[in-house]
Amino acid sequence: MNIDMSELVLTRKNDENHKTIIDINGKKIGDGNFTLMAGPGSIDFSDNLSDTAYEISNFGISFFRGGAYKPRTSPYSFQGHKVDGLKRLKDIAKKNKLNIVTEVLDIRDIEVVADFADIIQVGARNMQNFTLLQELGKVDKPILLKRGFANTVSELLHSAEYILNAGNKNVILCERGIRTFEPSTRNTLDISAIPLLKQVTHLPVIVDPSHAVGVASLVPAVTKAILAVGADGAIIEAYSNPEKALSDKEQTISTKTLLALHKDLVKIGKAMNVTIQ
Ligand code: PEP
Ligand code: MN
Repeated sequence: MNIDMSELVLTRKNDENHKTIIDINGKKIGDGNFTLMAGPGSIDFSDNLSDTAYEISNFGISFFRGGAYKPRTSPYSFQGHKVDGLKRLKDIAKKNKLNIVTEVLDIRDIEVVADFADIIQVGARNMQNFTLLQELGKVDKPILLKRGFANTVSELLHSAEYILNAGNKNVILCERGIRTFEPSTRNTLDISAIPLLKQVTHLPVIVDPSHAVGVASLVPAVTKAILAVGADGAIIEAYSNPEKALSDKEQTISTKTLLALHKDLVKIGKAMNVTIQ
């Protein structure tokens, strides 16, 4: 393997049994089972959002994703409902007994996001925002660190090292596709990064198939591959009515599709002795 692990003193795996298990309100991530996180790209105030959370919780999924601070390519695109979005997210999550996964974009918002989130997401575009990473190292909440779309696996590990080195040991790595010459999908999922990361680091590794492929119809098949290749979970954009989603609707699967996918994952998981949670 072409990764120099010499500087990765806190992220590297010391022996076969070395793993970080992150316990969030009794749900364990990285303990050998497959954790699903699902929800829309952006939090909104419609009934579709409450329906989505209700259905996701009913399927037995415990983690609800949704952005209140959105990293948009264009300054004219919807930027998220910010603090009002976080309050809405908390309300919906509480009603449906869901844990919250939500993104922080800026060092100035860490305190408020940490107040509402059960897992704080660092998006692909911020993977090498080292000041943000160092500040998140001081926070008492797990960090979901997404791989930048132009970053190597080694750079992802170095970014995780920043967070661990600053004191926060609870980091979940997330492969979400990288830019290649292939334009027919939004990104190219680096599927080999998953077993590679599992071999070299003790941190949990999950995958975002939605941003990796950018096409809703491809998400179920790719999620099955993610399970088969040994990931600790997946974070999926799902919504009760994808047409009405405020961001990334082309890649958002319906909750109906999510239910069918969940059933398939349970079948595959049985063969692998992996529980889908
Ligand atoms: C997201 O998960 O909402 C997101 C913006 O993803 P990424 O940072 O991977 O592009
Ligand atoms: Mn999105």
